Amino acid sequence: MLHNMLAMNRRAALAALPGVPLLAQSQITPRGLPALKITDVKVILTQPGGDHLVIVKVLTSEPGLYGIGCATHRERPLAVATAIEQYLKPFVLGKNPADIEDIWQSAYVSSYFRSGVTLNNALSGIDGALWDILGKRANLPVYQLLGGKLRAAAPLYAHASARELPALEDQVRRYMSEGYRHVRVQLAVPGFSGYGASNPTSEEVQKARPRGVQPSPVFEPTPYVNNTIKMFDYLRQKIGFDVDLLHDVHERVPPNQALVLAKALEPHRLFFLEDPLAPEDVHWFQVMRQQTTTPLAMGELFVNRNEWLPLVANRWIDFIRIHISAIGGLSLARKIACCCEMFGVRTAWHGPGNVSPVGHAVNLHLDLASYNFGIQEQNLFSAATREVFPGAPEISGGYLYANDRPGLGVDLDEKAAARFPYKGAGGSRGNDRRLDGSIVRP
Ligand code: MG
Repeated sequence: MLHNMLAMNRRAALAALPGVPLLAQSQITPRGLPALKITDVKVILTQPGGDHLVIVKVLTSEPGLYGIGCATHRERPLAVATAIEQYLKPFVLGKNPADIEDIWQSAYVSSYFRSGVTLNNALSGIDGALWDILGKRANLPVYQLLGGKLRAAAPLYAHASARELPALEDQVRRYMSEGYRHVRVQLAVPGFSGYGASNPTSEEVQKARPRGVQPSPVFEPTPYVNNTIKMFDYLRQKIGFDVDLLHDVHERVPPNQALVLAKALEPHRLFFLEDPLAPEDVHWFQVMRQQTTTPLAMGELFVNRNEWLPLVANRWIDFIRIHISAIGGLSLARKIACCCEMFGVRTAWHGPGNVSPVGHAVNLHLDLASYNFGIQEQNLFSAATREVFPGAPEISGGYLYANDRPGLGVDLDEKAAARFPYKGAGGSRGNDRRLDGSIVRP
């Protein structure tokens, strides 16, 4: 009864507004949008580039209206696909796709145990598709639903990596000439394996290993730290300080050595030092923050909302680097972005090739609408990837541009995707070992 009265009042109010179409009363739901139902959920697995991508397509009772979302976990894609097909699909079928927050919150606890990367990615796929659908229904890009664009495009950082310093310098200069003002630099350690730039492990290093160790690529923290300091000494001397340089430690060194590195790099004024610590060591950030001015970026491995919150609320980090699908998608990421703004922490969403073009679009919509945006990591999509994902964000002159179409603005060509099936079940990481044979974090 109260319902009907409210609906009648709303109809009367809308009728008074010129240009607002009047909906039939039977079309009006308690939440104010014409009721639709989720009629199907499809999981599309495709590998047009090097990475195993997982895309979710949510279909609705309105003919032709669907949304897509990113559920990509490159290393364990089939586990995510199973979680969607066996558990989330039956959970959301028949629900109203406009109930994004309710679906996120109820799906999040539907497994009882939560905060795992597989289920988070599965949820992200559904969640992204629902935002895409909402944008299409509103005839607005998702960034508009997030508050609107406050920048024309997102500044990008490019990846430079080399085995020799002059080659690394050349790459940085080339990016600068193309308009980039931010470059991540990684230099291979002579004789050793590494993250971002790597050498074959030399015979001399293999000979230094103890008897009985299995052959493997070798990484050692001390030569890596020394080599990285030398790299910045060289680049700043040659190139100066007008380009912002970044570096990714990739959680490979013990906490105290990470602190030594951060302090040694202070004169080189990094834009940020990424993942100097592993998620298991995050309380060391309090120590690092008190001892160094080097800006700290963290978070691509976070899956639990209790991991990032103390780092942000205590202002122990400068940039949040979350991989958005790994925490459950846009619905949680937009809240994290707002929370970070309150504490002066800037966003730098994880964005290499193991984020699909749909995930990159999610990153970009947040980038465009977040005041506390810091920087966006660049990934160059191959021609095949662009064919599978028409409307993928465009890169030009060091910036990432949205196409301003309704929803996320990127589509999935299923026929093209089918021409690039998986070449395997996914990829495992973790081949580098210390001299003594113990495993190194990837
Ligand atoms: Mg990283």
